[in-house]
Amino acid sequence: MKTARLYYDDSRLLEFEACVIEVREMGDGGKAVVLDRTAFYPTGGGQPSDVGTLDDARVIECIDEEDLVLHVVQGGDLLPGQQVVGRVDRARRLEHMQQHTAQHILSQSLWRLFSAETRGFRIMDRFSEIDVALDQPTNERIAQAVELANEIVWQDRPIKIGYVSSDEVSRLALRREPTRSGTLRIVEIEGFDATPCGGTHARRTGEVGIILVRSWERAKRMTRVRFVAGVRALRDYEILNRAAERVALMLSSEREMIAHRLERWIEEQRELAKRVRELEEQRAKWEAHSLCERASARADGARIVAHLLRDEDAEALKRLALAAASRPLTVALLAVHEGESVRLAFARSADLSEDMGALMRRACAQIGGRGGGRTEFAQGGGKCTAEEAQNLLESLARELIAQRPNC
Ligand SMILES: [Zn+2]
Repeated sequence: MKTARLYYDDSRLLEFEACVIEVREMGDGGKAVVLDRTAFYPTGGGQPSDVGTLDDARVIECIDEEDLVLHVVQGGDLLPGQQVVGRVDRARRLEHMQQHTAQHILSQSLWRLFSAETRGFRIMDRFSEIDVALDQPTNERIAQAVELANEIVWQDRPIKIGYVSSDEVSRLALRREPTRSGTLRIVEIEGFDATPCGGTHARRTGEVGIILVRSWERAKRMTRVRFVAGVRALRDYEILNRAAERVALMLSSEREMIAHRLERWIEEQRELAKRVRELEEQRAKWEAHSLCERASARADGARIVAHLLRDEDAEALKRLALAAASRPLTVALLAVHEGESVRLAFARSADLSEDMGALMRRACAQIGGRGGGRTEFAQGGGKCTAEEAQNLLESLARELIAQRPNC
């Protein structure tokens, strides 16, 4: 039993008649149909499967199984012996054919220019990848290969399919050694490339339209090149064009200048962020000064600052606590209340000895929260009302004033 592969000889054939020779139950509850002949390309060689219909059944994937092609179907009620009409999804076939043919052209271009062999190929959802043994990739080298590849596309060279026995292969100048024996299918781009391949290809290079490299990178000691061709190149251009237009409008700039303008803008943002940080430090110092002026003093001269802040974030709270504790003989017990939760930051100057970490753990235990830190600085938080937070700070401050550690 064997499925004749009609796409081998005619990649433009999208509608065909065939006979169902088997309907197989798949393990996952699905069904697969085997035909005596098919125009559907099954997943393989880096190229995803065709999809389409067999009468009323939807073909969602085709699988290569030695001499057979399994058509995984949804719906329909196909039976062995039945004659069916198969229809291959045209847009998907064209898209894959363009990417696959582009791969042959790009691979040969890299081989001719840099003796760089293609070792892997995959058609992904939006672009395709080739892994090339190109040791010293540069933008210039990739651009050179793209230029040659497009020249070949626009020369509209014929692409022919031929069959040779494996003994005859040595007489052909193939780009890639065949991986199988027996009769081989050779895809030849006239005067440019010949390689054994079982995929679907354009009949002339012009059908590929255009080949563009999106990006390249070093991967697994090779160069991974991501490219788009034909309809995918057009789609990619449309997406990028819209994005470039939007950015140009936002920057009130010519499209050619947007990268330059953005670089400058990012530099300005960095400067501004630095300036904001400096101003925030200054503000924290001033506020710490004002809080310390109003703080209760202990017998040994230490100031105990206890204050509930409004509308500050965690960073500002920490900054203010540290700014206060940078002054001599100071303990700062600060909190900020928001909604139902409270954040706490306790800090003390280096010339005192109270353990802020221990104090924080005790404070958090009282409000069912969590926190801790070092002896000089600690942070924490929990859930309580603003009034409870205020009372907590005041009671801790009274406790510290009552202590006379240095006496
Ligand atoms: Zn091919």
